Amino acid sequence: MSDSQPAKIIIFLGDGLGDRPVPALEGRTPLEALATPHLDRLAAEGLCGMLNPVSPGRIIGSDTAHMAILGYDPFKYYKGRGPFEAKGVGLEVLPGDVAFRCNFATVDGRKLVDRRAGRIKEGTDQLAAAVNEKAGRIDGVQCLFKESVEHRAALVLRSDCSQSAAGLDHRITEVDPHHEGVDYPDCAPLPEAASDPAAQRTARIVNEWVRLAHEALAAHPINAERVAESLPPANAALPRGVGTAVDLEPFAHKYGLHGAMIVEVDLVRGLGEYLAMDVIDVPGATGGKDTDEIAIAAAVVKALDDHDFVLANIKAPDLGGHDGDVEQKMAAIAKVENAVGYLLEHLDFTQTVIMVTGDHCTPITFGDHTGDAVPAVFHGAGVRPDDVQSFGERPCMHGGLGNFTGEDIMNLLTNFAGTQLKFGA
Ligand code: ZN
Ligand code: ZN
Repeated sequence: MSDSQPAKIIIFLGDGLGDRPVPALEGRTPLEALATPHLDRLAAEGLCGMLNPVSPGRIIGSDTAHMAILGYDPFKYYKGRGPFEAKGVGLEVLPGDVAFRCNFATVDGRKLVDRRAGRIKEGTDQLAAAVNEKAGRIDGVQCLFKESVEHRAALVLRSDCSQSAAGLDHRITEVDPHHEGVDYPDCAPLPEAASDPAAQRTARIVNEWVRLAHEALAAHPINAERVAESLPPANAALPRGVGTAVDLEPFAHKYGLHGAMIVEVDLVRGLGEYLAMDVIDVPGATGGKDTDEIAIAAAVVKALDDHDFVLANIKAPDLGGHDGDVEQKMAAIAKVENAVGYLLEHLDFTQTVIMVTGDHCTPITFGDHTGDAVPAVFHGAGVRPDDVQSFGERPCMHGGLGNFTGEDIMNLLTNFAGTQLKFGA
C-alpha cells in the first residue's frame, strides 16, 4: 500500500432508483427524463456501469440487495425478513429465536378489513405495551412485541431453555393473508415440517399470540377513540416474514473500515445493527416522499469525520415506483440529485470516493421490483474516468465498468480508496 492517506468511502443509494422506459416520458426513464446536473457531473468525471446486485435478472428485496451491495451473499446468509425488522426496532434476535415482521391491522371477526389499520401513526407504543402485558409469555415462550413506524411492528419468540421444551422452528406459514376482504388464516407448519414438534409448537404459540393480541387491542381505549373518530381500529397484529437469527461477520472485521449507515427503513437498519455498523438517526429523514434529503447528505458529511465508510439510502424513489407514479418518482430522484449536489459542494473528492446507484429497480410501469440492472457511477479519489457524460440507464450501459455485481462493489471502492490489501506477493 502507498503512504498516501486512504480516501473515505460513500455508497449513496436511491432506493429502487432504476427504471424502464416510460411511455409518458417518450420512452425515457425517469432518471433520463429529469435534469440531473450533479449526477451528470459524477458520470462525466467518473466511471459508470450497470449493477446487478446479486446476478443479472435476479429480483430481490431491499434487505437482500443491501446485503449483496455490502458483499454478504444473501443466498448464504439471509434467514428471512423478520430478524432484520426486529433488530431495526431494537429487539435482540438470539440463536434459537424466531422473529417476524407484523402489521397492525383492522379485522372484523377474522376478516381482514384494512391491512395497515389506516396507516396508524400514533399510540402504537401503548398498543404494543398492552399486547406485551396480555401475551408476553405463552407456554414457556417469551413473546416480545415492539412497534416500528406507522402500522409496522416486529415480534420475537424466545423459548425458555428447558430440556423438555421442543424449541422453536421457523418453518411455518404466515398469518397475514396480504389481501383485504379475506379471513386471515391460522399459522401452521410448512408441509416439510408438518410432523416436526418444534414447528407445531411454534405455530401453536403464534396462533395463541394472535388471539391474545387481538383481545388486548380490541379492548384498548386508543381503538375506542379511533372508532369514535371513524378511523379503522388497530385491533389485530398479524405476523409474517418469519426468520431466524443470522450470523454475519461484522463490517469492520471484514473490511477493516469503521462504517456507518444512514438509512430510513428499519429493515436495512437491522442489517446495519447485525453488521455492528453505527446506525445514525437523522431528524427529518422520514422514509417518505417528504424526507429531508439535505439533512441526510449533511449527516453523511458529518459521519465521515469519524468513519471511513458511510452507506446512505433515500427511500423515496422506491415508493414512487411502487405507486406507479411518474411525477412522484421524478420528485424523489430530484432529492437524490439534491443530496449529491450537497456532497459535491461539501466534500473534497480527492480524499473521498463515492458510488451512486440504487439497490434495485422499481419501474413505475411495473409497480414492484424487477431484476433489471441499475445504473451506477463511481466518482472521486482513484477513479479512472470513462467516456460517459450523463447519468441514466442508457448512458451507463456504455460505461467502462460494464455489468458488475454487488460482490464487486467493496473491491472496487477499497481499490479506489487505497484501503485494500494486496492478495499475493
Ligand atoms: Zn430497495
Ligand atoms: Zn420496494
